[in-house]
Amino acid sequence: MKCYDYLIVGAGLFGAVFAHEATKAGKKCLVIDKRNHIAGNIYSENIEGINVHKYGAHIFHTSNQNIWNYVNQFAEFNNYINSPVAIYKDELYNLPFNMNTFSKMWNIKKPQEAQEIIAKQKSGLNIEEPQNLEEQALSLVGTDIYQKLIKGYTEKQWGRDCTELPAFIIQRLPLRFTYDNNYFNDRYQGIPIGGYTAIVEKMLDGSEVLLDTDYFEWIKKHKDIADRTVYTGMIDAYFGYKLGHLEYRSVRFETEILNEENYQGNAVVNYTDRDVPYTRIIEHKHFEFGNQSKTVISREYSSEWKPGIEPYYPINDEKNSKLYNAYKKLADAEDRVIFGGRLGNYKYYDMDKVIEAALECAGKEL
Ligand code: FAD
Ligand code: UDP
Repeated sequence: MKCYDYLIVGAGLFGAVFAHEATKAGKKCLVIDKRNHIAGNIYSENIEGINVHKYGAHIFHTSNQNIWNYVNQFAEFNNYINSPVAIYKDELYNLPFNMNTFSKMWNIKKPQEAQEIIAKQKSGLNIEEPQNLEEQALSLVGTDIYQKLIKGYTEKQWGRDCTELPAFIIQRLPLRFTYDNNYFNDRYQGIPIGGYTAIVEKMLDGSEVLLDTDYFEWIKKHKDIADRTVYTGMIDAYFGYKLGHLEYRSVRFETEILNEENYQGNAVVNYTDRDVPYTRIIEHKHFEFGNQSKTVISREYSSEWKPGIEPYYPINDEKNSKLYNAYKKLADAEDRVIFGGRLGNYKYYDMDKVIEAALECAGKEL
């Protein structure tokens, strides 16, 4: 007996936006998640009065005014601007790559001086059309910045040589010849006041939610529960890995409450040296300009995904992209199941892109 119009697998951002739109259109939705909480990777939890981003730092940013208006229905955003710093051995640099970085690296002041140094470092490398992350990085910022701020960090984060990674990953970062430490070029940016979980809670208003429920076990006894399914888990898991395993990067977060007010003076500090085992330290209170007497920090350790741990980043290299395309063919042939989100589409989506994709999907579907 069908009790719901939609079974939505995953109470993350994709599932929640879809559920919100479907409920608004008069559909009945059941949302299930294997975790014991809603919100997927954007889940935030209050510790010592601080909203802690449990699955990694999340800064909302977008250039799409419709998406910005959409998300503002569910929360008010503060005026946080992400400006990480990078520590390489005993040197400290501003990110993203801008005049503050260049000035510190080469003791220069003018944009033209920086451009000349980069051009000199690039010449002789003979990179015409960058074929991988290393070539892309070298042709954008030259050898010094690549060696000190990119190579070690990227290899820690992805567990692969920079020559084996796609160029687009490094194109996420702005490169500017102005003194501007804003990590994003987007017009809109901020952190939701009250945390991300409250946004998803509002989105799920009107849907039924079942937590601690793994789709694969649960569906065996509830086969005909809904007309259609929106699946936001791992696409290869859905098909029982029958074409092989897609690769993912996972992250382990080591979170500590410290009895001090201000540990590192910034929300995000990247450790770009290979010898430091973690990639970055997040000090959560700085996302909301907190002045609590304690502070909470998380060190991020990157690792290869294996069954039993959380998948975070799809690895969109050639090998995995080919395998994903094969799974995508199977997915397209499923007439009552829609695949969405970072894991369902195996795509390195930011939050705004996930919302956009979910709205587009809901628009077609409803
Ligand atoms: P998820 O949030 O992963 O939700 C999928 C849900 O499905 C999960 O809750 C999972 O438990 C559930 N699920 C999976 N399989 C099953 C199953 N078999 N049964 C039941 N439930 C299941 N984006 C930004 O815009 N800005 C940032 O600063 C930013 N920082 C990030 C930092 C990190 C470390 C990471 C990993 C991502 C970051 N992102 C950022 C991206 C952002 O997290 C994603 O865009 C967004 O959370 C994806 O939402 P989703 O619904 O697709 O996936
Ligand atoms: N990156 C780097 N050095 C840094 C920060 C980022 O080389 O200090 C590279 C790295 O390859 C990373 C990519 O830039 O994967 C994108 O960085 P971003 O901060 O967008 O990563 P995310 O927030 O998705 O983890």
